Amino acid sequence: METLAVHAGEQVSDPDGSVVFPIYQGTVYRSAPGESYHDIQYLRLNSTPSQRYLHDKLAALEGAQAAVATASGMAAVTTILHTLLAAGDHLLVGDVLYGGTHDFLAKHADRLGWEYTVIDPHDPSSWEAARRPNTKAVLVETITNPLMRVGRLPELVAFAKASGLVSVVDNTFASPVNFRPLAAGFDLVFHSATKYLNGHSDLVAGSVAGSTELVDSVRRTLNIYGGTLDPHAGFLLARGLKTLALRVREQNATALALAEFLSANDTVSAVNYPGLADHPDHAVASELLSGFGGMLSFRLAGGVAAAETFLSSLTLPAVAPSLGGIESLVTLPARTSHAGMTPEARAAAGVHDDLVRFSCGIEHVDDLVADLSGALAKV
Ligand SMILES: *Cc1c(COP(=O)(O)O)cnc(C)c1O
Repeated sequence: METLAVHAGEQVSDPDGSVVFPIYQGTVYRSAPGESYHDIQYLRLNSTPSQRYLHDKLAALEGAQAAVATASGMAAVTTILHTLLAAGDHLLVGDVLYGGTHDFLAKHADRLGWEYTVIDPHDPSSWEAARRPNTKAVLVETITNPLMRVGRLPELVAFAKASGLVSVVDNTFASPVNFRPLAAGFDLVFHSATKYLNGHSDLVAGSVAGSTELVDSVRRTLNIYGGTLDPHAGFLLARGLKTLALRVREQNATALALAEFLSANDTVSAVNYPGLADHPDHAVASELLSGFGGMLSFRLAGGVAAAETFLSSLTLPAVAPSLGGIESLVTLPARTSHAGMTPEARAAAGVHDDLVRFSCGIEHVDDLVADLSGALAKV
């Protein structure tokens, strides 16, 4: 992975022999006779040199035949769904989805003539009953927010294959370092590249990877809907990707160390991290993932007042939503990602008001432990 991240997709690009692939800012290129519309080199059509370079690097990191970048993670998931579903089709979705994905389906599926049924990714025996003759695809997330649950993904892939469904996974929280969905049998993997893939909290992007056939059809939808990634953001994303493995390995180690530190602290009442033996999905996560990720969440024994004091006492992490950057971020999901839910629905989903979510950066783990320890001493 480390070697692929640096070298995959790299090309000798220009007469001056620059080692770093440049930004091709041009929107349009001289065309060859007989070129099809989707092969014309034009920025929106995802076919210009900097875009192809990025796609090759993304595909290599996913172990995919092909990949395409999108203008955001939301552009990735909406373009995938618009590719796989027509009016009258049915979709199965995991019961915990990224808020934007959830809202897209809740607000737009009806209008588009799509039906969907929510399934529990932990309960394979319930899936067949949810399937209908018009079911076309199943969509789940590798590690869900904010309790870091990991579903029965190998069984889900087998179910999708046996039922002729296209299986799609949002691998944002795991990153390709910790989970390679295509090798595990998924048909399509997508990311909010805004998070770990870029890793520096300075751009919004998405990626979709899979077979040439599926990615080509996603790219054709993308070409028409127009959610193409700009070449400047693409250049930064390709640069971020080169350190993906280093960053994520460090973030995995830091998250595990923080989870263990927090578990041993009396002011912390619960810690959610799949790398801990007492996490409900520890067994499946250990089998499936090569690392448990850089995200964890925890509750404070002192409740929401303690959580607020804790956040305002930290000095290193920024109090901010989003995740996956090199700087640690901390947030109260009840106030951010899950603010739109009623308090009852939040509690039922395990997103209590005192739940703190932590995205580990690459600061030295000793400094983070010292900072957390100082803040916990104040609660
Ligand atoms: C952030 C995120 C998205 C949406 O990505 P954007 O780049 O913000 O559009 C989708 N899925 C997950 C799991 C995310 O964390």
